[in-house]
Amino acid sequence: MKKEKAVVVFSGGQDSTTCLFWAMERFAEVEAVTFNYGQRHKLELECAADIAKELNVKHHILDMSLLNQLAPNALTRDDIAIEQKEGELPSTFVDGRNLLFLTFAAVLAKQIGAKHIVTGVCETDFSGYPDCRDVFIKSLNVTLNLSMDYPFVIDTPLMWLNKAETWELADKLGAFQFVRERTLTCYNGIMADGCGHCPACLLRKKGLDDYLVKREQGGTR
Ligand SMILES: [Zn+2]
Repeated sequence: MKKEKAVVVFSGGQDSTTCLFWAMERFAEVEAVTFNYGQRHKLELECAADIAKELNVKHHILDMSLLNQLAPNALTRDDIAIEQKEGELPSTFVDGRNLLFLTFAAVLAKQIGAKHIVTGVCETDFSGYPDCRDVFIKSLNVTLNLSMDYPFVIDTPLMWLNKAETWELADKLGAFQFVRERTLTCYNGIMADGCGHCPACLLRKKGLDDYLVKREQGGTR
């Protein structure tokens, strides 16, 4: 693995930043790709760019504004509230987003001679996004390999982790403080521990609290 090159799908959030550290430990060369799809908060892109710069990782920002044209949603539009009704997908859902992102990441990966595509998708805290499921990733992996006749490997280090275990992974990679302080997960565009009340902050905080309890009890470091 140490000789190989990887592209990390990178948003500047907790999950993808943890994946970036994971990839840097594992692969000889790592580059990051961020998709600009008209995020509500420009800070998200700045945050991603800052992290990549600090970690000395080459950073590609690809324009995906067409996504908002196809599927206006709460991640990009101020006039759509972030909410999840019982039994429905959250209003942040964009049909086919991971399908598109991973496909574009693969085109880039092949161009720069990278075999591995690393993504922070996760089935454990499943919020109903069908293209975050393991079965979808495996299916797409086969499709990408056939479509470009190239031996891509999609790596999903977070697939079966809960949020507490994702914090634990960051800690094992020596990146706990960095991930806690430098990433942006909050839907209201506040870095680090965030606004504290949006769905993304609540999920992140619960995982963090669970992990901190575990770390204190068991000395997992
Ligand atoms: Zn928040």
